[in-house]
Formats: sequence, structure tokens, C-alpha cells
Amino acid sequence: MATLDPPPARLLIDGEWSAPRNKGELAVVDPASHELIQTVGLAEAVDVEDAVAAARRAFPAWAATSPSHRGALLRRWADLIMAHVDPLAAIEARDVGKPLSGGRMNIYIAHGIVDYFAGAADKLTGVTLPTRAPDYLGYTVPEPYGVCAVLIPWNVPAVLTAANVAPALAAGNSVVLKPSEIAPLAPFALAELARQAGFPAGVLNVVAGLGPQAGAALTGHAGIDHISFVGSTATGRAVMASAARNLVPVKLELGGKSPNVLFADAELDVAIPAIVASITENAGQNCYAGSRLVVEDTIHDEVVERVAAAMRAVRIGPWDADLDMGPLASDQQFARVQGFLAEAAGSGARLVTGGGSAGEGWYVQPTVFDKVETNMRIAREEVFGPVLAVQTFSGMAQATELMNGSDFGLLACIWTNDISRALRLAKTVRSGQVAVNQFHDAGVIGFPFNMQRDSGFSRGGGYGALREYTQEKAVAVRLLQR
Ligand code: NAD
Repeated sequence: MATLDPPPARLLIDGEWSAPRNKGELAVVDPASHELIQTVGLAEAVDVEDAVAAARRAFPAWAATSPSHRGALLRRWADLIMAHVDPLAAIEARDVGKPLSGGRMNIYIAHGIVDYFAGAADKLTGVTLPTRAPDYLGYTVPEPYGVCAVLIPWNVPAVLTAANVAPALAAGNSVVLKPSEIAPLAPFALAELARQAGFPAGVLNVVAGLGPQAGAALTGHAGIDHISFVGSTATGRAVMASAARNLVPVKLELGGKSPNVLFADAELDVAIPAIVASITENAGQNCYAGSRLVVEDTIHDEVVERVAAAMRAVRIGPWDADLDMGPLASDQQFARVQGFLAEAAGSGARLVTGGGSAGEGWYVQPTVFDKVETNMRIAREEVFGPVLAVQTFSGMAQATELMNGSDFGLLACIWTNDISRALRLAKTVRSGQVAVNQFHDAGVIGFPFNMQRDSGFSRGGGYGALREYTQEKAVAVRLLQR
């Protein structure tokens, strides 16, 4: 296939690339050059209506297929993704502005996720229940919800498409996916590959559009049976209100303010590069970005100096230069990060390095603020840029307090050679995910993407995601005498 880009100004509804009813177009722009990459269709409520109707029509037959068949289609999809790694990586990288190798890593992750659910599709089981007498039988059956609405943001669109669409389809649901208006191309390209893999028409529909229009039309649609939302905490609250009106279950994966908690006995040569990568990967635009560094007082000066030097060495450029970091994904995001930088500079925090834009376009310098207090916005709110807030602790009590010092609860990373200390903190941390001596989940297959507190609630990732996309039916039977 020459290109995986969707045909211009189209949506994917009922297996066809069709123009939106009102012929609306959405311009997709390269964040580095600000050039138009291409247009996609701009869905409005009427197009969402069509997509939900198509998903409703497709659902009964799809739910009736065998899980092994669904697994086989998912495996074919995974194989096609692997066969198109290079074009997909370029689409993802250019659309979001990340370096090409970052795009490639995201496509490998997306492939791994689809492959995982290909294998898991026919391993989803209920249980048999104990009974009070032999002439009773009790069991549970996992069932798909029906039509799942999936709304995703722009930072890792390929990964989030795979992470939500694959388990939903594996469990027998049909899907209406609304990618972000800022970076919709990889979701469309992945959906095209799903079409080629042989998923029936209407099982996966993709409608790009603006949040308050297409997004709100989708989350408020009475024909939706489950909502999976990945995005900001503020929008998550609105989505949950929508879900309440139609009484549908909602899975929320929201923002984060993840700490790297660094003890003096940690392997600094391992920790420091990982901490820098955790806030500069994807220009800090990751929900789990390590945006807070909580460092033991005895190594504070050395660590801040080494982190700042590594941040200064980060090479910045457009996606196809394939350096370390690209621009922010949009002008809104650039303005938002600039706002945080200006406020932090006047808040009493000490600017160690960075603090401004970097050349033409939406580039931001990797930035370190030291002496950050817990009540400062830079310590509490998600910046979603390459901006690190440093706080200093002395002793376990203060380490714990600072680690838990934001309202988010996504990920905490603990760096120490004292395993008892690490596991004590892993117990007390108020977050859905913990990593010890590494940033995030490398080396673990099917790591649950769990959230707590203002980061939302979800069992995304791993086997739990199949449960997230199924409802459980309980059956009680009395065996009559014969
Ligand atoms: P956002 O909340 O603005 O948008 C997310 C999606 O919701 C987009 O598709 C958008 O069009 C849509 N939307 C916006 N308003 C809507 C409304 N009123 N009703 C329905 N849909 C609406 O988020 P963003 O700026 O695109 O992405 C950044 C956020 O995503 C950050 O907070 C980041 O932490 C979060 N994120 C979370 C995870 C996770 O797994 N926890 C992963 C990636 C990103």
C-alpha cells in the first residue's frame, strides 16, 4: 500500500471512508513546520449518529463470533501493524511532533498490545460458584457491553488506539473511536489496517472531530453502552457527567504528576538518565511523565547539577531529524506551558535551566525548577511539557509526604538499593502504578495501566482491560429431580 493516510476529509464509518454529512474538514498540522499534513473529516453530531448506528448494527453478529475468531482477526491486525512499522512510525511522529524513533517505539508498543489481546481473546472466562447443596449450580459469564465509545488525546494516539480498541473488540464489543482533533492520523491508519485485517464493517468506526461537538455528541449518545475516556482531568469530569445522564459505565484515564523519589543509595548512573528521559520523552507530554523529582537532601546538589546538565544536552528538532525531543504538539499546548513557566518563575521556585521557548515554533527548552514547594502550581498541576519540579526530603516520613503531595495518582518511581524501603513506599504511595529502580513498566508484560484519585479509575492494560470491557452475568440454576 502506498500510504496509510486516510483519504482527505473522510471518516471511517461502517467500513467505508465517507465524507462527513456537512463536508467539514479538519486540518492536521505538522507541529514542527506548521505545514498542513493533510485534512481529515470533521465529524459533527450527525456523523457521530451514523457511526453509533453502524456500530449498533454490527454488534450482535460480532458478539456472536467465537472469541478464537476475534483473536485470529486481532492477530492479523497485529501482523499488519508490524508489516507497516515504518510508515506508521512516520505518521505518529509527524502528527504529534515527536522524534521518528519515538514514533517507532509507540508503534512497537501498539503492536505488542494488539498481539497481547489477540492471545487473550479466548482466555476470558467466568467462574463456577460454590453452592449450598449439590442440586444447585451457579456460574458467571463475561459479556460485552455493546457499543463502546473510546475518546483519546493527542500525545500517544497509536498506543491509546491499540490499548482501548483491542480489548474492546477482543471482548466482543463494537467501537466508535474519537481521536483527538490535534493528532488523528495514526488512529485512522490503524483502523485502515484493521479493515484490511478483515474486521466486519461497523465493528470499528473512527470519527475525528472537536471535543465539545463530536466528543460531547458521542459521550452523550443514548446508543452507547460504555465510555472509555483518556484525556485531561477537567474533560474527564464532563465525560463522567455525560455517562451519568445515560447511566453507562465509564473508564477514566486522566492526567498525572508522577514523582521520581530518589534516595542517596540509588544507582545514580542508572537513575539520572531515566529521570531526564521521563520528562523529556515526547516533550513531557505523557500522562505518566516524571514531572516531579523528590530527592534526598544529602545528594540534592549533585543530582540537580547532573540532571540540569543532561537536560541542557537534550537535542531538539523536528520529527524527521530524529533527535531527542520535538516541539509541543499544538499552539494551545505551547501557550499553556509558557503560562506555567512564567508563573513558576515568579513563584519563588529557582530556575536551574531552561525556562523559555527554543527557537521558532512550539519548542520549549527542557526546564528544571528547584526549591519547589508543595503548594505551588508547578508541584500540583500537570504541565504536560518538559518541565521538572524538584523537591528535597530528609527521611522516610518526608519522602512519603512529598511523594503523595499531589492530587493525582498515576505512577510513582522509587529509586533505592534498600528493598525494604522501596516496598514500604510502594505500600504507602497513593497511585495506581509503582516502579522500582526504573521508570515505568519496562520488562513486564501486560502491566495494568491503573489509576487512582484525580488520575481517574481504570483497569486499562493487561488482562484486566478485558474485564474492563465486559460486564458479568451471574446465573443461578436449580437442578430439578428427574
Ligand atoms: P482533552 O481532555 O482536552 O481531550 C481528550 C479527548 O477528549 C479529545 O479527543 C477531545 O477532543 C475530547 N474532548 C474534549 N472535550 C470534550 C467534551 N466536552 N466531551 C467529550 N470529549 C471531549 O485532553 P488532551 O489535551 O487531548 O490530552 C492531554 C491529557 O490527556 C493530559 O491530561 C494527559 O495526562 C491525558 N492523558 C492521560 C493518559 C492516561 O492513560 N491516563 C494517557 C495519555 C494522556
